[in-house]
Amino acid sequence: MNETIITSIFLIAIIVAVPVLAQDPAWKKIEDETVDLFKKYIRTNTINPPGDVTQAIEFYSEIFDREGIPYEVFWTDRENGKGNLLAHLKGSGRKKPVMMLNHMDVVPVDMKSWDVDPMGAVTRDGYIWGRGTLDMKNYGIVQMMSMILLKRNRITLDRDLFFLAVCDEETSGELGSGWIAENKWDEIDAEYVLDEGGFGTQGFFTNDDRLIFSVGVAEKKVCWLKLDTYGTEGHGSMPPKENANFIMTRALGKIADYETPISINPVVREMINRLGPLAETPYNNALQRNTISLTVIQGYVGDPPKSNVIPDESHAVLDCRLLPETDPEEFIAELKKVIDDDRVQIGYIEAPKEAIVAPFDTDMFKAIEKETKEVFPESVTLPHLIIYGTDSRFFRDKGAICYGFFPGPVTMSEYRRIHGNNERIRESSIRSAVKIYYNVIKRVCEGR
Ligand SMILES: [Zn+2]
Repeated sequence: MNETIITSIFLIAIIVAVPVLAQDPAWKKIEDETVDLFKKYIRTNTINPPGDVTQAIEFYSEIFDREGIPYEVFWTDRENGKGNLLAHLKGSGRKKPVMMLNHMDVVPVDMKSWDVDPMGAVTRDGYIWGRGTLDMKNYGIVQMMSMILLKRNRITLDRDLFFLAVCDEETSGELGSGWIAENKWDEIDAEYVLDEGGFGTQGFFTNDDRLIFSVGVAEKKVCWLKLDTYGTEGHGSMPPKENANFIMTRALGKIADYETPISINPVVREMINRLGPLAETPYNNALQRNTISLTVIQGYVGDPPKSNVIPDESHAVLDCRLLPETDPEEFIAELKKVIDDDRVQIGYIEAPKEAIVAPFDTDMFKAIEKETKEVFPESVTLPHLIIYGTDSRFFRDKGAICYGFFPGPVTMSEYRRIHGNNERIRESSIRSAVKIYYNVIKRVCEGR
């Protein structure tokens, strides 16, 4: 596709995504405040590794102090600046709580490949640029503003509302959401957890520019497999029959040629029902089948590797992502059949957890759909299968209904910059998101 076509598609996308109702002067002031705080937040350095979130905790603490919203900070590794902040608005307790969840840490940057300072929060061409603008300081800010606005507007609540900002998501999550799930869940015990894993997408699912708000209701299972083969070591000049690397590469070749079958699960079925056929893209491919990526091959002796020594073992790692209903044991049995060679051993690096699919006929889902349509009448809202892992897994395990949801438009080309270079979000996207998020939380939590 050439540049002109890309530019014109992009322009259409922006035109389609213009929200209605943004003119209310009170909202304009709130949006300005949100943008201003968002830029300050982007400037906090929370790059992981090392994952020190002290600046972000200070940022939130200062604001919650000023607004008179109670919160607690739980340091899980004080020395290295790892900790979590939990803010809390009390409700009548008539209904179970809602928890808004976001991670403060961001992935590292490759400085030389950025056009602007990744921590500068520069505004240019209608975008706010910076690491974390899409993953996921944008969520953190609109969640915080939603809580602040409920407090300022003295809305009485039927349920407790929690705001949880965590560390450590970009590594294991153990010191962040894992720690909270382990140590604080009894006090929180939320019915709903709102996390990352959904956007107002354009060009993700269909070939047209429809604005589609995806709400993550389930995740694929992360299944990392290690393959080991063993042979006879020796000098490269006199090859033995059993070369571990040849055994391995033959097996990997068979896996490369193997196409996992298409399997439409209920979430993807619902997407197709609401949208029509999905476009042929790597993203949609991953929604409809188990995927296999070869990520590591290791078979040599010495450091640096010796060119003339045949190793007696060879190892590979497959990053497999399984549909929620796939049994990992059956999947491994299938791979063994494909490889058809007893000399290749397959084992888990870590056995995948059971995948839980959240229902999508709930009050929360309906509120998301309704409030999104208020601002973007032409949009479609649908449940979505998240193809990567998020912190929600810790809380799904606890029985919470977890949704991944950000109510701002993001095109595929913008989305691709997550964890990449020049990550940026349209300023208009943050502006619409704060309004919709607040209205969703208000609709679901307000007392009657
Ligand atoms: Zn994230």
